[in-house]
Amino acid sequence: MHYVSTRDSEGAGVFTLSEAIHRGLAPDGGLFVPRAMPRLNIEDFEGANDPAEIAAVLLAPFFDGDPLAAELPAICAETFTFPLPVLELDGGPAVLELFHGPTAAFKDVGARFLAACTQRLETDADGPLTILVATSGDTGSAVAAAFHHRPGIEVVILFPAGLVSARQAQLLSCWDDNVRSFSVDGAFDDCQRMVKAAFADADITAARRLSSANSINIGRLLPQMVYYAMATLRAARQGQPPPGFIIPSGNLGNAFACLMTREVGLPVGEILLATNANLTVAEFMDSGDWRPRVSVPTLASAMDVGDPSNMERVFWRYRDHAGVSDAFAAVSIDDAAIRETISAGPARWHQVWCPHTATAVRAWERMPAADQARGWVLVATAHPAKFNDIVEPLIGEPVPVPAAMQQLLSLPARAETLPPDSTALSARLLGI
Ligand SMILES: *Cc1c(COP(=O)(O)O)cnc(C)c1O
Repeated sequence: MHYVSTRDSEGAGVFTLSEAIHRGLAPDGGLFVPRAMPRLNIEDFEGANDPAEIAAVLLAPFFDGDPLAAELPAICAETFTFPLPVLELDGGPAVLELFHGPTAAFKDVGARFLAACTQRLETDADGPLTILVATSGDTGSAVAAAFHHRPGIEVVILFPAGLVSARQAQLLSCWDDNVRSFSVDGAFDDCQRMVKAAFADADITAARRLSSANSINIGRLLPQMVYYAMATLRAARQGQPPPGFIIPSGNLGNAFACLMTREVGLPVGEILLATNANLTVAEFMDSGDWRPRVSVPTLASAMDVGDPSNMERVFWRYRDHAGVSDAFAAVSIDDAAIRETISAGPARWHQVWCPHTATAVRAWERMPAADQARGWVLVATAHPAKFNDIVEPLIGEPVPVPAAMQQLLSLPARAETLPPDSTALSARLLGI
């Protein structure tokens, strides 16, 4: 299997998966995509039951011919160490819970897989690698947890002070050993600018090998297909028709993984993206105009994206408005509707939703009954305890904290404050 850039229409530059993971971004600035989609069917998964086994079957063709191919079962076993349960709501849809990992959001899956691959691609001779991440919340903690204590790899995280939830801030700040966190007096865009400046700084790149772990890396995308495959296999084994998926979406990485799962031939039904008040995607579906813009803050902050980077992959595969509209639909759910959905969750469904998951729940709730009856899986992207400051006032009671999160919450916070200034970051990177 080879990988090409979304911008290379001739397919001239081809890369192995290891190269694509290592580079992150293609040399022409495009995103890596598989040159051809492998085809699989349900029978290929006979005997595969737990997530690691299903992952090894599903991802084998994507690793075909790669130096990491022999390691794939071990990489999957190292990644999928936590349950990915599907819950049937009484009289309602199913819910695919992706928040039982170490940092309680689905980003644990991609980050752990990327870490397992990166570790194996590193050789001692190269010297230490520094992973530099700007995060608006869940990515940074997932990457920190995934790379913590891995020899030869350092992680440096930048997050915007005061613009992530208090618990998110703690999950970004509680690390030691090879992970350093900086709480930047600025916005997410400042963090991202500082990271970009570091990559462009010759002094820094001479002193350190830098790498990013952001969500456009194909090594984060591929493992996210696994839980969609699991949910479709589960439905098929129970004799149900192909389920539709409703996916809380921001950068569209999770959505693109679902699209790929359907492309390889597994029985994924309709795909509906639930977005927040950031309207770029929903407006495009309505009007055909692609108008990226600055993001607006919402309660579902991990989805506050005005220029979703994975749309480049979507356009590469589905070409134009007509092609995209055939592939999926999108709706926008505003903060008032998110609040109502969270408030009503305990009485209506005996569930507490995080603000992101609430967008998917609302998207289902507002469908006509005939559409609801087609059978849907809602994707629950984070645990509500991570956003207790939003959720608890709405439901009027505390949200129980999962044990893994409780343990991280009990550690001392070690983030260092940094001005929103790239010279401050360079000094830290060169001074260590
Ligand atoms: C990152 C994130 C999303 C958005 O996922 P994309 O792949 O960027 O579309 C949704 N919910 C939560 C909790 C997240 O952390």
